[in-house]
Amino acid sequence: METEDPAREIAELRREIDRHDRLYYVEAAPVISDREYDRLLKRLGDLEAAHPELITPDSPTQRVGGAPIESFRTVRHAVPMLSIDNTYTLDEVREWDARVRRGLTDGEAVRFDVELKVDGVAVSLRYEGGSLVLGATRGDGERGDDITSNLRTVRGVPLTLADDPPDLLEVRGEVYMTNSELVRLNQGRKAEGLPPFANPRNATAGSLKLLDPRLCGRRRLMFVAHGLGEVRGLDASSYEQVLGLIRRWGIPVSPHNACFDAIEAVIEHATTWESKRHELDFQIDGLVVKVDDLGQRARLGKRSRSPRWVIAYKYEAEQAITKILGITVQVGKTGKLTPVAELEPVPLGGTVVRRASLHNPDEIDRKGVRIGDSVVIQKAGEIIPQVVRVEADARDGSEVPYAFPDRCPSCDSPVERIPGEVDVRCSSPASVCPDQLKEWIRWFSHRDAMDVDGLGEKLIHQLVDKGFVHSLGDLYRLDEQTLADLDRMGKKSAANLVRALEESKHRTLDRFLTGLTIRHVGIRIAEILARRFGSIESIRHASLEALEAVPEVGHVVAASVREFFEDGANQALLDDLLAAGVSPQPLPELQAADGLPLAGKTFVITGTLPHRSRPEAEALIKRAGGKVTGSVSKNTSYLLAGAEAGSKLEKARQMNITVIDEAELERLAGGG
Ligand SMILES: [Zn+2]
Repeated sequence: METEDPAREIAELRREIDRHDRLYYVEAAPVISDREYDRLLKRLGDLEAAHPELITPDSPTQRVGGAPIESFRTVRHAVPMLSIDNTYTLDEVREWDARVRRGLTDGEAVRFDVELKVDGVAVSLRYEGGSLVLGATRGDGERGDDITSNLRTVRGVPLTLADDPPDLLEVRGEVYMTNSELVRLNQGRKAEGLPPFANPRNATAGSLKLLDPRLCGRRRLMFVAHGLGEVRGLDASSYEQVLGLIRRWGIPVSPHNACFDAIEAVIEHATTWESKRHELDFQIDGLVVKVDDLGQRARLGKRSRSPRWVIAYKYEAEQAITKILGITVQVGKTGKLTPVAELEPVPLGGTVVRRASLHNPDEIDRKGVRIGDSVVIQKAGEIIPQVVRVEADARDGSEVPYAFPDRCPSCDSPVERIPGEVDVRCSSPASVCPDQLKEWIRWFSHRDAMDVDGLGEKLIHQLVDKGFVHSLGDLYRLDEQTLADLDRMGKKSAANLVRALEESKHRTLDRFLTGLTIRHVGIRIAEILARRFGSIESIRHASLEALEAVPEVGHVVAASVREFFEDGANQALLDDLLAAGVSPQPLPELQAADGLPLAGKTFVITGTLPHRSRPEAEALIKRAGGKVTGSVSKNTSYLLAGAEAGSKLEKARQMNITVIDEAELERLAGGG
């Protein structure tokens, strides 16, 4: 504690701490550990306690000086905090570019600044004479809450500005929380029996609303600047210059900001970040694109409540952090075993997520997933949520490594791994493995295969669990009485199902082949084989050479088809189905568009596709012989869905229409 000149040491410590704050928050290049930083802060606090006359409000020790308050004072923003128009497709961004150009002189060059749209809470910081005098929430844009005492606890918010700041400066920016801090915070809350925050934004908003700044100070909130309010004595002609100055004065500016001279470069940047954003330790929900030139901004002006010179492009998928409670293994229709993470339920993109796919045992090893881990999950398109990564720093030692079972969870047969493949399978056929049989029946009766109306998942489970169905052939031996006695059935639906099964006996050969689940034989290959061979007898006896000779089939598919039909159990299954009256029909004669891969298929397109515009996708479908219509109906074969798909997707799901993405379309259409 002894020091010859306390005033001098205090001043040095403050400078040193400010320097480290700046290195940490502005330069993102800290040179000392958190522990060393805390030691400096403690030394300063001790000195100030011994010499209270030397304490000043801008001392780093005074960040958390305020006592709890009763309520927040409402303050009027000197310059309103306007909202930003959102767009959800890249075409809308292009349209915005065109509007901007129409608002300026013909041929005038426009430069764009692109910022990550950090998912946090927007605030305004007011500095007078270089000192922080007010921090406020956005509120309704005109008036917000005075949360200065809480914002002072955010280490990235400088209490005093460095390097000759202007007389008056209002900086707008985002307060946010990192994913890892949310995990840490939620662990503490759980220990205290408090509900966890669902996402970093909620946690940030909740923290800034705390009336006791000491509590807010315990949560490590971050700040990043993204604009200006009222200013006096600032000399800049472009936003890029403004950001350079803000950074020089010691206020954090995102290192990910970028500048472009053309909208297509902006769009490429936006596309890159759509996947790259998951590498960040904080959440962004899009990008903000701004006209760089401040003079052009003034000429463009604003429209009601949003400026014309800025637009937000929002990404679709969202991420959430939750906990893995356990890992279960699902058995697929061909015996493939898929590990599934059972999650602590968490809201994500409008639904509550309880499970996420872990794909295969290698994936679990690669991601290092343990039971009890905090993980980042994400929804991508139509697929069920995925585990993006483990928050390994959040481990407390209670996590349990997962050992993939060596026996099938459904039938207890040993699991097997096909050399060279990542998938693990049940070694028994579906006749022995109930879960496998259930999934197979589900697929066999699917709209794309035998199209058996009324054979739902719950009914299939009952039929298998109660021992009425041991094979696909047993389906055709079900009688009305047996079905009517099942839960939730009744005479009428039993009669309907028997009729639907009867009708399905005469489906076309391609549908029958699809329903058999021969590896590598999907809807399209099934159709090619059906056209080439004409009958099931002809296909089951086709030689490897004959199969390989079919265009687009190739060795892998041919070998898989041979293997399927040479298998004794499959031969018995086939004989049984044929004996039960199943009689696959040859495909109708080729018409003009026939022979093309999408002949006879009707598509509806919704949402934004990753690579093609809508007209491009339509052209692809038409070239391949398909049709495109505007609305989903019972005649729709496929719904092609991209990002931000809306009511059409909902309707297609209700009608059990197959939903595909752009990659799947390319496969169906034969490589585009
Ligand atoms: Zn099994």
